[in-house]
Amino acid sequence: MVEPPPAFLPILPDEDDAAIAAALESASVPALMAAMVHITGDVDILRSAIRPKPPIPGEVQGFLTPDEQARVRAQALDVLKAFRDGGCRLPPPPSHETLRELIDFVAGEALPEEYLPMMLEELALSGDERQMDWSDVPAAKRAGLRVAIIGAGMSGLLTAIRLEEAGIPYVVLEKNPAVGGTWYENTYPGCRVDIKNHFYAYSFEPNHDWSEFFSQRDELFAYFERCADRYGVRDHIRFETEVRAARWNDDASLWQLEVCGPDGRVDRIDANVLVSAVGQLNRPASPRSRGSKTSRGQPSTRPSGATTSVSRASVLPSSERAPAPSRSFRRSRPRWSTWSCSSARRHGWARTPSTTTRCRRERSGC
Ligand SMILES: Cc1cc2nc3c(=O)[nH]c(=O)nc-3n(C[C@H](O)[C@H](O)[C@H](O)COP(=O)(O)OP(=O)(O)OC[C@H]3O[C@@H](n4cnc5c(N)ncnc54)[C@H](O)[C@@H]3O)c2cc1C
Repeated sequence: MVEPPPAFLPILPDEDDAAIAAALESASVPALMAAMVHITGDVDILRSAIRPKPPIPGEVQGFLTPDEQARVRAQALDVLKAFRDGGCRLPPPPSHETLRELIDFVAGEALPEEYLPMMLEELALSGDERQMDWSDVPAAKRAGLRVAIIGAGMSGLLTAIRLEEAGIPYVVLEKNPAVGGTWYENTYPGCRVDIKNHFYAYSFEPNHDWSEFFSQRDELFAYFERCADRYGVRDHIRFETEVRAARWNDDASLWQLEVCGPDGRVDRIDANVLVSAVGQLNRPASPRSRGSKTSRGQPSTRPSGATTSVSRASVLPSSERAPAPSRSFRRSRPRWSTWSCSSARRHGWARTPSTTTRCRRERSGC
């Protein structure tokens, strides 16, 4: 069994006060306040007048003012210095009541009770809570099974990791020469997650080193490459092998797969269980235009400074980094789904020109 990474990385003795203060500058202050409670056990930290508002994507400071942020960072510097000087010893995980208060605090509102189990699993304070217990299935029975997984993206890899832990034989069939799926295939400039990376990672394999809250493709790809090696699943992956067909044979009680390997040879694989982890965004539908078939141009060439987004949300670079005008090609009318007038007003943004423009464009017609 692979030892999970520590829940936190200790502050090294050579990380002086200035290094800690510099690191604090890029911290999310609401998360920092929660971490301070974890380190000190002092829940009163949450009970001051400094309270984050409900976050929206891309806003990680809970709309706290610069002055409020500076006050919390100064307090955190003292807490972290004492933590370092005391040998980085964490107290036991907070109680359920404290965790509930912490989660509501960071969320900026009281979350419905049914969210809590998921949040606590994600926090993984007591280790890998999603690990499956197979002890009631005899090891010999598990070893007699054969599972075929189609795809080595984040879903296929996760399935493989869990089967590896359970001692169940499996093979992963992957049409690409690498793992990562989405994060192998998409390489356009600025390609990144639109969910904060501390969520967008396996709960049992936290990464304390994400360089951004919304990491870019190379970093995500490297993370999944690392997971494939760390959890010993790479040797079970047949790369450049595409599943062409899968049929259930009732008489044999087996899935029979037709696969095409790197040398073009068609093979058959039998499996008791078939897991489809084929994703939905790895077969791009390229737009057809007159002459595109005969064109000898370079489809991947893009004008300098151009940006492309195929995700559900498109975020253009800030104007100082992209002075050139941008042009948008889209299938349907844009929907400004996140920054509705009401949420903009709630966050005190209603009077900024950009919000007003967004609001005017909203289909809700306010
Ligand atoms: C730019 C971008 C940003 C995104 N951001 C987010 C985000 O912030 N949050 C979020 O939740 N999701 C996001 N997504 C969605 C993303 O696709 C999923 O989060 C996740 O990566 C999907 O993983 P998957 O393993 O299910 O599928 P994939 O990553 O697509 O992996 C499927 C794998 O199956 C292989 N495969 C498919 N068919 C076959 C076959 N017949 N034979 C063999 N192999 C096959 C593919 O080659 C691929 O490697 C984003 C997607 C894109 C493109």
